[in-house]
Amino acid sequence: MSSNSKDIEKFIGMFPPVTFADGDCHMIGSFGNVGIVETDEGLVVFDITTRQYRNRLFRAFRAITNKQIKYLVYSHGHFDHCFGFPPFLEEIKEKNWELPQIIAHEKLIERFKRYKELDNYQNWINSMQFASIYDSNRRFTSTHEILEPTIIIKGNENYTFTLGDLTFEIFHDMGETDDSIWMFVPEKKVIFTGDLMISSYPNVGNPYKVQRYPKHWALAMEKMLEKNAEYLVPGHGPLIEGKERIKDVLSITAEAMHFVHDEVVKRLNEGKWFEQIYHEMLEIYPEKFKKHYILRPVYGSYEYAIHAVYRLYHGWYNTGNPTDLFPAKSSEIAKEFLKINSEEQFLQHAKNLYEEGKLQLALHFLDVIIKGNNSDYSDNLIEAYELKIKILKKKARQETSFISFNILNNGANEIKDLLENLGKKKFK
Ligand SMILES: [Zn+2]
Repeated sequence: MSSNSKDIEKFIGMFPPVTFADGDCHMIGSFGNVGIVETDEGLVVFDITTRQYRNRLFRAFRAITNKQIKYLVYSHGHFDHCFGFPPFLEEIKEKNWELPQIIAHEKLIERFKRYKELDNYQNWINSMQFASIYDSNRRFTSTHEILEPTIIIKGNENYTFTLGDLTFEIFHDMGETDDSIWMFVPEKKVIFTGDLMISSYPNVGNPYKVQRYPKHWALAMEKMLEKNAEYLVPGHGPLIEGKERIKDVLSITAEAMHFVHDEVVKRLNEGKWFEQIYHEMLEIYPEKFKKHYILRPVYGSYEYAIHAVYRLYHGWYNTGNPTDLFPAKSSEIAKEFLKINSEEQFLQHAKNLYEEGKLQLALHFLDVIIKGNNSDYSDNLIEAYELKIKILKKKARQETSFISFNILNNGANEIKDLLENLGKKKFK
């Protein structure tokens, strides 16, 4: 795994459950943390992890409390927050309990519909985004097994209920998704954020996923700041404790979201195209964000966030070069390059770039051979593939973002499979 495997282990919940706030609140680390609040009348549960982790969650959960779940809140409709319910359903049937109330935002209903329509597609992109932990026999979600919400929050309305002697305040804010809600328990001073707070730079510009909302994200952080919480249960990563620490992570995240949004918008107004904006943004990224532990690119990253803001306001034509409006196939362009210079020359040049440490440029030159080559495999092609694997693996090892790591590493593995299928058993 990549250079920050400890961060990633924490991100995917590899830590023991914690109990806090006078012993009434618990957090179970999972791929998608699970929050539990105990009252005299039963439990309020915030999120219920992935389908894959359901049995692990159930065991950890029932080692903490035997009480009945009265409310289950979905922070948002992602696979890692709403699909680990099956063992709990079995328990409900066995014990003849009533089903819990399930609280979600109205946009989550649309999301679940979309997941049904795009079932295979969702699994395909997730198999790449989570390649290093993906098991094709155990899909993350089955969109045909959904526990439908019973209490639906509409638009920007807030929802408050009580159970035992505790109050549960629920708010809607957009950020990673348009269906996100978060919960505050004033008597215990605990915020459950869902993925609006994770132990990483926000996942605001995921390369595989639909549009996300950096400005709204900042506003959500500012609303949470008003609560003056003592405990913060993030969507991923360890519990955050202490008023000052919570204030610090919420305000720096708000500031980082305002920054990336406002600086991209400024450059759009200056009439700049994506490439220029992107590279300027990399140059002006402030040290205070780079250095802050909560903004480390463990999962999301600043680079991805720049894309997110641009995409929010711009269409797909992003170079300003009319050549790119109706481009030729990249394989056709590569074939023409190979008519001017031989494969050997491109390969040698790629090797030189690699030696100089210009890995990204080397990849572009290798792609000329890979895309433009006419044969199933020639020696040059095989060599180009081999060097591409080497470079992708090297870049993957340098990556701190779990998503970037998976894209690069999975890309290398796909070429390995291809070579093996071609009968070149050089990689065992
Ligand atoms: Zn999540």
